Amino acid sequence: MGNTIFSKIISKEIPADIVFETENVLAFRDIKPQAPVHILIIPKKEIPTIREINGKTDAVLLGEMIDAANEIAKKENISEDGFRLVFNCGNNGGQEVYHIHMHLLGGRKFNWPPG
Ligand code: 5GP
Repeated sequence: MGNTIFSKIISKEIPADIVFETENVLAFRDIKPQAPVHILIIPKKEIPTIREINGKTDAVLLGEMIDAANEIAKKENISEDGFRLVFNCGNNGGQEVYHIHMHLLGGRKFNWPPG
């Protein structure tokens, strides 16, 4: 398997609070939550950053991740009030784990622009 902590979460070598799983997508609670609801939605396929995404070939996978976000947001009761979806990319984007992940944040109001 791959070399990030998320590969080990996918293979269940290390535990995570998993809230959603399909053949291609996994979602689990962030270990250091920045909001009352903070869930990471990841593809099981290893893609280091958003830079490696090809809109044409990865469109279905990204669509599955958005579907997962909407389903989880409803389950977590944050859909109606609204929520934030974030991909951090590379150094300036603040990316720490080089396996793409979409942050689903909700349960409080967020500022804009971000810090
Ligand atoms: P990034 O900064 O790369 O966009 O976000 C990485 C996120 O992964 C951070 O919010 C961090 O708290 C979370 N994270 C890092 N290691 C683990 C882990 O082992 N388990 C879980 N559940 N989250 C993690």
